[in-house]
Amino acid sequence: MTNKDKKQKKTKHTSLIARWVSIVTLTIMVSFVIFSVVIYSIVSQQSLNQQEETSNNVVVTLQNRLESIPNELQISNVIPSLSPSTKRVLRGVPAINDQNSATSAFNDDLLASITNPDISVAVYNTHNEVVFSNGDTTPKYRKFKGENKVEKIQHGTHAELLTYHTVKSSRTGKIIGYIVVSNQMTYYNRLMKNLLHWMLIISLIAVIIFIGIAFVVVKDVVQPIKEISKVAREVNDDPNSSMRIKELHRNDELEELAITFNEMLDRMQRYIDQQKEFVGDVSHELRTPVAVIEGHLNMLERWGKDDPEILDESIKASLQEADRMKHLIQEMLDLTRAEQINVQYPNAVTNVYDVLTRVVADLALVHKDFKIQLDTDDLPPDTEIQIYHGHLEQLLVILIDNGIKYSTTRKQINVSAGVSNDEVTIIVQDFGEGISQADQEKIFNRFYRVDKARTREKGGNGLGLSIAQKLVTSYHGSISVDSVEGQGSQFKLEFPVLTKKEAERLKKLDQKKKLEH
Ligand code: ADP
Repeated sequence: MTNKDKKQKKTKHTSLIARWVSIVTLTIMVSFVIFSVVIYSIVSQQSLNQQEETSNNVVVTLQNRLESIPNELQISNVIPSLSPSTKRVLRGVPAINDQNSATSAFNDDLLASITNPDISVAVYNTHNEVVFSNGDTTPKYRKFKGENKVEKIQHGTHAELLTYHTVKSSRTGKIIGYIVVSNQMTYYNRLMKNLLHWMLIISLIAVIIFIGIAFVVVKDVVQPIKEISKVAREVNDDPNSSMRIKELHRNDELEELAITFNEMLDRMQRYIDQQKEFVGDVSHELRTPVAVIEGHLNMLERWGKDDPEILDESIKASLQEADRMKHLIQEMLDLTRAEQINVQYPNAVTNVYDVLTRVVADLALVHKDFKIQLDTDDLPPDTEIQIYHGHLEQLLVILIDNGIKYSTTRKQINVSAGVSNDEVTIIVQDFGEGISQADQEKIFNRFYRVDKARTREKGGNGLGLSIAQKLVTSYHGSISVDSVEGQGSQFKLEFPVLTKKEAERLKKLDQKKKLEH
């Protein structure tokens, strides 16, 4: 598989927008369908109940008229019971004798209520013969169990309600016939049709609106992700690319992600630059000693083999350069390690007074020609800071060594320490050549030396102060310089003092970690 194929394979995916929009749409559609079904059923049930009641009223009215008949229902006894006018009234035609109808026992409200054009009534006797019917169509009798039965019959989109009821003689208690009421439910059918119609239209509109909203919302989220991914791909292809995510102006997690991502890229870029610079600096620094050794070896090869003087001088010079290289490599290692202190010694606690007295005493022994003074009047002996003791020693050695290296006539170094405002301050002062204002800003840079040739003579690589600065920043301290050319320099270290409680906690953690190992 070629690189291009791999790339294509990697980028083949379902779009987040499509996926989210379909999920949202599906969820909304399902919710809408459920909601519509529930509403439809409730409305349907409610109006069906109403229709049933209307049919029941008719049944009750008829039953009241018919129950007084003692025998089997027949046209001859049913019609008088329902009166001749009833048939007309049931059809919605006025009674034959309007004057009579006002006083007629049957021309009551209940009877009037069955003039509803939706309602058709049929009365059957027990032999299933129609003895009365009011409509153009006679609702058919079908056998049923019990006293009554209600059934809804669907004819396509039209529903009909059929109510069956037995007629019992009030005198004999025997079944003398059956009433069948058909209700065409025009209102109900229209209502349900309209409801379905509107529900479909509203659902459709709602789905379209929601798809639109979902699309806008999801796109708003996915667009920045696409942008971030584009930048990541670009930087992945070309680590030196200066491409960054544009400001998102949205004040949310995505903006936070974009900012962090950009910071990460900047940091990565800085590391790459530093790395390049470092490799360049190192090869440059190593070139000189290697060239010197090579020169001496060449000289030896040509003339020095038999000349003990040249032999001696060349070997000495080469050894000196080898030693310088060893020193340089050690310092470079120190510099690299100084960047990983947080991981190596996270809980180290050190007593400042102890380390100061020890280092000053040791250096005083080595540099007997120097007067190294220690002033700890303002330093409580139990002052503790969060640092690995070896690193505090290294810091002091770098600063005191520099003081000694760059001293001129006055061979004195003053070291003082004190605590104020929960900070411990350590000052290393010399009375040597001093550093110009412009150089003071640069001396902490890697391999920076004010006077290259002279410093080389003194064995300096320009790494001491950058190691010191890396160490100090890793321990949340600070380092600064105050110097006057020709008069001397003062280097100041500052660290936060640990409270007794913090120190105890860190020591316990340190102990625990040591035991674990
Ligand atoms: P080096 O190993 O060369 O001393 P440093 O990083 O310790 O490297 O110092 C960088 C440069 O800063 C030195 O080369 C020197 O020019 C200057 N410097 C450092 N300390 C002092 C000092 N106490 N007095 C004068 N110059 C100093």
